[in-house]
Amino acid sequence: MRNVVILGATGSIGQSALKVARDIPDRMRIVGMSAHSNAEALAMAAREFPEAKTVISSGPDGIDRLVELATMREADLVLLAIVGTAGLRPALAAIEAGKDIAVASKEILVMAGEIVMEAARRKGVRVLPVDSEHSAIFQCLEGRDAASVRRLILTCSGGPFRKTPAAELQQVTPQMALRHPTWSMGRKITVDSATLFNKALEMIEARWLFNIGMERVEVVIHPQSIVHSMVEFVDHSILAQLSHSDMCLPIQYAVTCPDRVGNSLRPLDFASLGSLEFEAPRKQDFPALDLAVEAGSLGGTRPAVLNAANEVAVDAFLSGRIAFPGIWKLVTGVLQKCPHVENPTLEELFSADTEARAIARSLIF
Ligand code: NAD
Ligand code: MG
Repeated sequence: MRNVVILGATGSIGQSALKVARDIPDRMRIVGMSAHSNAEALAMAAREFPEAKTVISSGPDGIDRLVELATMREADLVLLAIVGTAGLRPALAAIEAGKDIAVASKEILVMAGEIVMEAARRKGVRVLPVDSEHSAIFQCLEGRDAASVRRLILTCSGGPFRKTPAAELQQVTPQMALRHPTWSMGRKITVDSATLFNKALEMIEARWLFNIGMERVEVVIHPQSIVHSMVEFVDHSILAQLSHSDMCLPIQYAVTCPDRVGNSLRPLDFASLGSLEFEAPRKQDFPALDLAVEAGSLGGTRPAVLNAANEVAVDAFLSGRIAFPGIWKLVTGVLQKCPHVENPTLEELFSADTEARAIARSLIF
């Protein structure tokens, strides 16, 4: 039995985590839940899981409340399902308190992957991936380290504009970008999936989770979202993990691993699937991937700057202040303007994040 705290219980991942808790009640007990502003949804979850302590994080002392929840004595696993980087301090606090963390909030690992992984190593706790691609890789690796790996191959649905000609991307509206072909998710990650910044962030996330150089992390477009990612080993053998696109599975595996536990998820039927397709990403038209390779290879504050600029850009796009291709342009502009710091401390990463957001806002107005 795992005692789990869910930070961001009212979001898309948070709600899937509640489903998992209902599905495998003798393996997962919810002991804490947070929501940012949706008090009603949190109250509803609290009626169903009355033992769980609840926290609303939108107040002035929100981070402190999240830290309290993430370090509570009863917890042994903290699921980070907050959009953006607000979960970083609670994540580090959970690690210091000796809790395992399950990470959906990829932005945390993009911003401070080296610091998070080093803290976890020092405390002997596990950082368990929840992002479907990283869960797939984690399942394929089964504890083998980077020395046995030739390449990590992240699959990518391609988003709603996989086939849209470059010239038409200028006309993309928020409503169009919020319609994802294979996954139903929160707004920010859905826009990220349309620009391919989601895959860009995931490349950097993989680099830290699996301690592997950026040059060994690749992306292939796979429109059906059935193969969730693959590992090529040094002997050229490739393992893949397949299932329907449902975040309940990676969440469950983070809770039960290394055990496999029966559940109510829909089985995969190959005959009715027909074919699975793969193609190269359009790197020229969707520059997010190249920006990630550059930022991830350079390291330092670079990934934090990329992530912060992207968060501001997505917000500006959703509120109609910039066009869809403006997201790439804005991130590129911020990366050019922001000074680089090598081997940053946590505080230097927070400063870089703040500065990148300020530069991004100045470039919009
Ligand atoms: P969402 O927008 O549906 O939910 C976000 C949750 O975070 C909500 O509970 C909200 O109350 C809380 N929150 C928002 N801002 C906050 C803040 N400043 N401080 C504290 N709490 C805050 O988002 P989501 O789709 O569930 O995504 C959550 C994270 O998981 C993201 O990092 C995303 O990239 C990642 N992820 C999501 C999916 C998916 O299928 N939804 C898949 C892989 C990874
Ligand atoms: Mg993913």
